[in-house]
Amino acid sequence: MPELPDLEAIKAVLNSKIAGVKIVRVEMMQPLVIRQPDLKEFEAVCTGNRFIDVNRRGKFLLFNLESKHILAMHFMLTGRLQYCGTRENRKPKTCFIFHLEDGKQLRYFDSKLMGKIYLVEKGRFYTIPRWNEMGPDALDDDMTLDVFRSRIKPYSGQIKNVLLNDTFLTGIGNAYADEILFEAGIYPFWPGTSLSHEEVGALYNAMRSVLIKAVDTVSNRMRDDITTEVRDFLKVHRRGGKPCPACGGPISQVQANRRITSFCRNCQKA
Ligand SMILES: [Zn+2]
Repeated sequence: MPELPDLEAIKAVLNSKIAGVKIVRVEMMQPLVIRQPDLKEFEAVCTGNRFIDVNRRGKFLLFNLESKHILAMHFMLTGRLQYCGTRENRKPKTCFIFHLEDGKQLRYFDSKLMGKIYLVEKGRFYTIPRWNEMGPDALDDDMTLDVFRSRIKPYSGQIKNVLLNDTFLTGIGNAYADEILFEAGIYPFWPGTSLSHEEVGALYNAMRSVLIKAVDTVSNRMRDDITTEVRDFLKVHRRGGKPCPACGGPISQVQANRRITSFCRNCQKA
């Protein structure tokens, strides 16, 4: 699943490629991912419209259109974008293609077809299910340590699940939750309410530093290829059995709550 650093990198590439560019035609193959409005209206609004710029909130990429509509994309597990020329092979399960006036194409593909695409008028984000329940973005300027401390208080579940909870904050998924907890030296299955004042501070600092560094790394490595997922630099996530970069012991990997969690039993003591 694309997480905050992936989406930041994709956003930057798209802003350099499609800002100001007109959509001349929409080709629809798998309409299932278009949640709102109906297909006819989706195509009518997009055709002839122009991308102004691309923003992000949490795990949504937000495309501002000239008509003051916003195209909100949530990629879920397998949704991805491809920006390419017309001759490039289409990926399996390409759902729709924006044919652009400069001869390029912006394509959305999604092997599990779980992605969620919404087209809303400005100021009507609340029509997107659960939009208003979303917490602030993990890298929002307003997400200070004090705000982080007060927001985390009511969450009594395991700390990894708290980081993944979109009502607490948004942008962090399974991979970066593992990386942040490793950086902070916190056991992932510990109840959030059991963390000390110092541990909450360490968690906040780890969140900021891991995400900011990852935005930089992913952006540099992705270059213009927004279809690639750059994850090989992660320290623990999906590196079960490999040596911990801090202590050299084996990284543990467990399947819990229907997701994989990787951590070091030595550096993140229970
Ligand atoms: Zn270790």
